Amino acid sequence: MRPANHVFANLGTTIFTVMSALAAEHGAINLGQGFPDDEGPDDVRAVAAKALIDGPNQYPPMPGLPALRQAVAASNKRFYGMEVDWQKQVLVTSGATEALGDCLMALLNPGDEAIILEPAYDCYKPIIEAAGAKCISVSLEPPHWSLPVEKLAAAFSDKTKLILVNTPMNPTGKVFTRDELQVIADLMLKHDTYAVCDEVYEHLVFSGHTHVPLMTLPGMAERCVRVGSAGKTFSLTGWKIGYITGPENLMTPIMKAHQFVTFTTAPATQTAIAYGLGKDDTYFQSLASSLEAKRDILARGLKEAGFDVLPTDGTYFISADFRPLGFSGTDDEFCRDITVKAKVAAIPLSAFYADPSRAPRHLARFCFCKQDEILLESSRRLLDYANK
Ligand code: PMP
Ligand code: GLN
Repeated sequence: MRPANHVFANLGTTIFTVMSALAAEHGAINLGQGFPDDEGPDDVRAVAAKALIDGPNQYPPMPGLPALRQAVAASNKRFYGMEVDWQKQVLVTSGATEALGDCLMALLNPGDEAIILEPAYDCYKPIIEAAGAKCISVSLEPPHWSLPVEKLAAAFSDKTKLILVNTPMNPTGKVFTRDELQVIADLMLKHDTYAVCDEVYEHLVFSGHTHVPLMTLPGMAERCVRVGSAGKTFSLTGWKIGYITGPENLMTPIMKAHQFVTFTTAPATQTAIAYGLGKDDTYFQSLASSLEAKRDILARGLKEAGFDVLPTDGTYFISADFRPLGFSGTDDEFCRDITVKAKVAAIPLSAFYADPSRAPRHLARFCFCKQDEILLESSRRLLDYANK
């Protein structure tokens, strides 16, 4: 038999699925895969329910419902002062994952190079490689994950087509500063490249930090495509609604990729997210402040259990160094051990590296978008585990 596609045939199951299954098998609290344990805003779901019954339920327009594309353009203006033509510059996708796939397939040719910053969300590299391009990884170092300017400059070449920039960054919780983004922008201009900006956590940013889209820096509007996710912005990860904003010349091929990947996305949920994006500022502020309070609860619990807790300024995630607990195995072994013995599941940081031999092996990522009581119970369980 002839082999299947080499990228997908050689891939394992994602770490999120693996750890969720292990958590279920052992009855553990799942602080691994990133999803909230509530149902999302009632009013947004009520709009979806009504739209589902009232219809229409047939194919929406390929680029998305006008109401949602207008709402995405309006939120680009409201939050970042960007002027966006909703008809030419906005595309609705079935989740940010599809959006990333559409962007990478539409922009990359075989032989191109694409730079990613590690630790990196796990879908980037396979999609880049499936497009026939070469993935060049540049590692950020814990605990501060600052941008390694010289290493990054050295990674750019005349083959570089694009860089993938994820801010706020999963799994580190790093929110890139304007100065760091300027370094990236300067390199992009110097080497005539694009950026695919994964900004799914744009509204999950904590006090003292501000989300800056790379696209808003001088000269970047023509070179960046920016990906958002209703899953994160409305705590509705199962809905799988994403959106891309970009310049018309890039959006045209990206829409062509979308038309043959999914073509379109369920209309009732699009209607509801169009409504949601119009909610007033207090919704977005309280989403961030409630998550920040949860971060603080889990950070305190992890510290009390003996972990060295790394700073996190956004996203759903906090990383912790487990070596002070006296555990001398790898991060994979640690995450399995706490799932089985403490009944709390987490994700090993090395899963976010293409080459695990280059990865830190002493960090676990915990997800804190859970009810306070669940975070407190997880903390108690980890304290007990540490004391044994
Ligand atoms: N990018 C990052 C950094 C993520 O953490 C996620 C999480 N799911 C995604 C993209 C995918 O988002 P979606 O669920 O909307 O496909
Ligand atoms: N983005 C989620 C995380 O980092 C996982 C999404 C998925 O399982 N595909 O936990």
